[in-house]
Amino acid sequence: MDFNKHSIKLVQNCPVCTRKYQQNRVQILEAFGNSFLAYLTCNFCNSNLIVKVISMSHGLVGNAILTDLSPEEVMSFSDGDKISSDDILNVHQSINNNEIINNLKINL
Ligand SMILES: [Zn+2]
Repeated sequence: MDFNKHSIKLVQNCPVCTRKYQQNRVQILEAFGNSFLAYLTCNFCNSNLIVKVISMSHGLVGNAILTDLSPEEVMSFSDGDKISSDDILNVHQSINNNEIINNLKINL
């Protein structure tokens, strides 16, 4: 499978400036079996897009998000620990207790 060719076809234009992506600014960050993760950088406005593509029996399915992360940061988050339900509860509790807001006020 030519990942670069397929990712270019799925996302042809930059969602920010609408100009066409250049193939030399596409990086494949990960490839697993029938899926891959690509990182596209626009030649004109330098915005970055992360694209996840999965090859299904009925064709290619993909989603994309704009990001300000570098390719290295994307991979470090991808390899990091998963968010647990305790992590969510801790954030929820901190918000309820205004700990986050109070910490922000102190730092301002
Ligand atoms: Zn652009």
